[in-house]
Amino acid sequence: MGFEKFGRFGYVSQTKIAPLVSYLEKNQIMATRCKECGTLYFPPRADCPKCRGSEIAWVPIEGKGKLVTFTEVYFAPPAFQDSTPYLLGLAELEAGMRVFAPISNEIDRKDLKPGLELVLRSRRAGEGVFYELDSQ
Ligand SMILES: [Zn+2]
Repeated sequence: MGFEKFGRFGYVSQTKIAPLVSYLEKNQIMATRCKECGTLYFPPRADCPKCRGSEIAWVPIEGKGKLVTFTEVYFAPPAFQDSTPYLLGLAELEAGMRVFAPISNEIDRKDLKPGLELVLRSRRAGEGVFYELDSQ
């Protein structure tokens, strides 16, 4: 299974970590851990930029975190353009990494502030699936 099913937000499409899509379809947020140095990555990475290791293990994460900042996206690649404008957030996860992800449109924009507790969730979009930041 390839990334043709990865919704409209292709943040990780350049990587070799296609299993992410099937995990998301099962509502699981999975990170990868480098087997050499133990660094955890989300979005998952097939290679570790830190130690150049390429042995990875899939690790479930809760996806809880806090909003660091957010921005409104008006221009996106053609396939995503009909979703604009949307809010893109940067969250610091309890698992220890920072993640860019769209913010659920069920969250009121005026409630967004740094430190707001959010959680990464998978979400279906038509035939695809992607992940977004939602309220905990
Ligand atoms: Zn490593």
